[in-house]
Amino acid sequence: AMPVVAIVGRPNVGKSSLVNRILGRREAVVEDVPGVTRDRVSYTANWAGRGFILQDTGGWEPDAKGMAQSIARQAEHAMRTADAVVLVVDGVVGATATDEAVARVLRRSKTPVLLAANKIDDERMEAEAASLWSLGLGEPRPVSATHGRGSGDLLDAILEAL
Ligand code: GDP
Ligand code: MG
Repeated sequence: AMPVVAIVGRPNVGKSSLVNRILGRREAVVEDVPGVTRDRVSYTANWAGRGFILQDTGGWEPDAKGMAQSIARQAEHAMRTADAVVLVVDGVVGATATDEAVARVLRRSKTPVLLAANKIDDERMEAEAASLWSLGLGEPRPVSATHGRGSGDLLDAILEAL
C-alpha cells in the first residue's frame, strides 16, 4: 500500500493550498473563509517517482468552541494512522496557543512529524520561521504554498521521513 502523509494544523494556515501545491493541481478547496475542508480528504500524490496518499484535514471554524481540541484529535488520529505527519503553521503569525497545544500532542508521536512554516513568500521572511523551533518539532521548514518556495525541499524531507 502507498504511504500516507497527513497534513494537520489550524484553519487558514494554508493546508489545502499546500496540498494543491504538492498535487500540482487544484483539488483541495482553498477558501478565504475557513472551515470548508471536510474532516479528512485523501488524494493520490507523486514526488520524485514515488507515490503516496496525501491527506488534507480541516472542517472547523477558526473561533469555534473546541477547535483546538478538534485539531489535536486530528493530529492524534494522524499519528496513529499515517506514515508521516506535517504540521502546518502560519510562519508570519508564528506559533499560537493552538499550535502549541497541537505540537504538544505531536511531540509524543512515534510517527515522523515535519513542521512546515507556510506563507513565507519571500526570502526576507525566513528569519521569522526560525522562531518556530520553540514548538519542539525540529527544524521549521519555510514554504510558500501559493508561490511554491520551499515546497520541493519539504517534499524531499517528507519522502526521507517515510
Ligand atoms: P487551510 O484552512 O489551512 O486549508 O488554508 P487554505 O489553504 O484554505 O488557505 C487559507 C488562506 O491563506 C487563503 O486565502 C490562501 O490563499 C492563503 N494562503 C495559503 N498559503 C499561502 C501562502 O503561502 N502565502 C500567502 N500569502 N497566503 C497563503
Ligand atoms: Mg483547508
